[in-house]
Amino acid sequence: MMSTKAKIVILGGGFAGLRALYRLRALGERADIVLVDSRMTSLARPALPEVAFAGKPVEHARFPLERPVTRSGAAFVNHGIERVDALKRRVVLDNGDELAYDYLFLALGAKKDYDALRGFHEFGYSICDDTEAPRLASALSEFKGGPVVVGSAKSVWGTRVSAPALAAPCEGPIAEIMFMLGHDLRLRGLHKISPIKVFSPGEIFFEDVGTRVHADVGALIAREGIEVTTGKVLSRLEQGAVVFEDGDRWESALSIVLPPYSGNDVVKRSAGLGDEQGFVPTDQSMRHLDFEQVFAAGDGTAFSMPKLGHIAVMQADVASATLIRDITGEGEIPDYRPEIFCIANRGGEQATLIYSNDFFGGPIDLTLNGPIAHMMKWGFDEYYFHTAGHLPPDLATQGVELVLRELKQ
Ligand SMILES: Cc1cc2nc3c(=O)[nH]c(=O)nc-3n(C[C@H](O)[C@H](O)[C@H](O)COP(=O)(O)OP(=O)(O)OC[C@H]3O[C@@H](n4cnc5c(N)ncnc54)[C@H](O)[C@@H]3O)c2cc1C
Repeated sequence: MMSTKAKIVILGGGFAGLRALYRLRALGERADIVLVDSRMTSLARPALPEVAFAGKPVEHARFPLERPVTRSGAAFVNHGIERVDALKRRVVLDNGDELAYDYLFLALGAKKDYDALRGFHEFGYSICDDTEAPRLASALSEFKGGPVVVGSAKSVWGTRVSAPALAAPCEGPIAEIMFMLGHDLRLRGLHKISPIKVFSPGEIFFEDVGTRVHADVGALIAREGIEVTTGKVLSRLEQGAVVFEDGDRWESALSIVLPPYSGNDVVKRSAGLGDEQGFVPTDQSMRHLDFEQVFAAGDGTAFSMPKLGHIAVMQADVASATLIRDITGEGEIPDYRPEIFCIANRGGEQATLIYSNDFFGGPIDLTLNGPIAHMMKWGFDEYYFHTAGHLPPDLATQGVELVLRELKQ
């Protein structure tokens, strides 16, 4: 327990960093909090498929960071981060300045490693950030038809914590791409000349859900006439083709891929902070395995499987509660019970909500299809955007979960 004011530095203002900031506000006068991010805006990646396929302005997928941070009583530092010296408890910024901390909260996300994918910059498109999604939107507006290939590159994970090693970080965005693109092509009368072929590096498409969700999503995919092939590990993109490690070469007029994920470069540059792939190893209270004063949450942690905003927020809740307990000696630490909760738009007013903890040994494995799911996604995204990174109150979320379970009994 600390008697003086604790200096807390949060690195990253995405889902995990903002959630931590809003939770740690409870410390009031007992802490000085600084949030560092190289961006001026926080990017809501779940809104990016709509930027690519539904004409949503990219400005609606991001919001300025400084105001919500300072209104929370914290300081905002808009700088790149060079590295962390965890032994000396210092963060080194890219201009050489240093920030000392008592507690560090790592929320830097994962690196979307486009450079690791041969041919991506010349022949590929993606939707993972606010440069790629608009680039794809503009390519689509000029697309005149032809075979389309969609899928995830294989990612490699470290071994320090025992988390399930998925072949792809998260295939929810792949589902969203295939359905939304299919809808768009149909509207433009291009669908007959533009078959969509989907590949997955895993043995199963959507490795992280159970049989009921597979059956429901599989039926939708079949209805759309989309072909999904599993066990395909991407080798490179070429002019007019996608090439796999087994030598297969698929013709492609438009190749949309999720790149491999790896640990954040800051973590890779910081001695002792990451595992072999640069992901942060923590225990289940989200405390670093080797540095007691370091906490982590979100895509950059070794535990976050799949890489999902919902899981980033759950981890931030656990990490913040642990940190608050360290400082005040008070408060309950919630159990880390991962689950999948996401909503994939399918074009127009259709969406599929997936709620499942089957992969983690739980009993829930369900979908909700239709306009209500679409409305819920709209509601979550708007709430997040207009409240600068808050999520609907726990009670509302728990209510939704209860209704979903009842519906599927
Ligand atoms: C297309 C797409 C759709 C998705 N849809 C959903 C969905 O529907 N539901 C869902 O739950 N999840 C979804 N996800 C996953 C979700 O977006 C991520 O899990 C989530 O963004 C992870 O949050 P994070 O805070 O860990 O990392 P990030 O959101 O990546 O935030 C990291 C922050 O750290 C900052 N940063 C990084 N490096 C540095 C540096 N060197 N110096 C300074 N600052 C730095 C970044 O600028 C950024 O603000 C989707 C992902 C994608 C790509």
